[in-house]
Amino acid sequence: MSFGLYVHIPYCIQRCHYCDFTTFEQNKILPPGEYVLALLQELQLRHHLAPTHQLSSIYFGGGTPSLIDAKYIVSILNEIEKVGFSFNSQTEVTLEINPATVDPKKLETYLLAGVNRFSVGTQTFNDALLSACGREHSAKDTVNTLKVLNEFNVKYSADLLFALPKQSLSEVALDVATLLQFKPHHISTYCLTVPSGHPMNRERAPEEEQLEMFNLIEQELSLYGMQRYEISNFSLPKMSSQHNRLYWEDKSYWGLGVSAHSYYSGKTDAEPYGLRFWNSKNLNEYLESTALKPDSRPVPDPQLEVLSVHESMTDFCHMHLRTLAGLPLNAALNKFGSNMPFINQRLAPLLDQGLVEKVEQNIRLTKKGVLISNKVFESLTFLKDELS
Ligand code: SF4
Repeated sequence: MSFGLYVHIPYCIQRCHYCDFTTFEQNKILPPGEYVLALLQELQLRHHLAPTHQLSSIYFGGGTPSLIDAKYIVSILNEIEKVGFSFNSQTEVTLEINPATVDPKKLETYLLAGVNRFSVGTQTFNDALLSACGREHSAKDTVNTLKVLNEFNVKYSADLLFALPKQSLSEVALDVATLLQFKPHHISTYCLTVPSGHPMNRERAPEEEQLEMFNLIEQELSLYGMQRYEISNFSLPKMSSQHNRLYWEDKSYWGLGVSAHSYYSGKTDAEPYGLRFWNSKNLNEYLESTALKPDSRPVPDPQLEVLSVHESMTDFCHMHLRTLAGLPLNAALNKFGSNMPFINQRLAPLLDQGLVEKVEQNIRLTKKGVLISNKVFESLTFLKDELS
């Protein structure tokens, strides 16, 4: 059984203009030591409700986990083990880092503690664009960070943001070429997404050009030897993110920390289609909650949702179809039994229109389907009243 832990570290140097994660500027929040104590308490009081204690992945996200002292990351990993979770060198342990927050000493500490993969917020190598995004670091900081990672010969993923204000196609091409010089193992690429009235939505390339930017990125990464294994994620062979696969492949994960979300997919009689739950986004509420001993469920009722069949079918189809492997029909039949014909009925016209295709026992998006994936997902959204 695959099962992972997500640990949210909400500290940042500054708030980037486009960010909607629950994060705080480091001097406007309690000291990291106090936050980490709450995290440890959450682990101690709730770990027994996890579906298994065998971990396939641990992911430190944020925020900027590399901003706080490395000793805190070590203490969280120690506590994870102390409460009974087991992990070994095969367990993927990822830490998100931002340029200018890591030095060789910190990196050594992470590696000794068991971290074996990093995710770097590179975004762009254009200083003017970095500052337009409200990011604190410079392209030079990013280059130095990537050099240090390469000196240590560690696996890492890099984020690339495109369709930024005033960004041209040739600037995107330059970003990709610069990043590839450092030979990353994995790249996550995101088209800037901000609400329509947001200041960062001004002077951006029109939609057709944004699509060209994405096509260019895909082409260059494919020449470099990467495969797009999920709508926004590319990897060299065997370098896909095991932790993120949990989200796409209907696997369970427990999210610790303020605002963290969790999902237990287990098939129990009371929860045949799984359970979603989440921690409060309000830091004080979260901190108070970590001192409460839970009942039979990890969080109070308003913070959880027992999934019904139509919600579970919708999530199952949407998340699997994001991946190159696609929607596994046998696993869907196993999970949804007598409701499987409803999925097949919706898939039939999509197959006819060439938006999805059948490859062995899986259904996946075609190239045409990827371009209008939102429409495909809409067709695979199930309503309560239509199912048995
Ligand atoms: S560094 Fe990342 S998490 Fe922090 S504010 Fe910027 S985008 Fe958000």
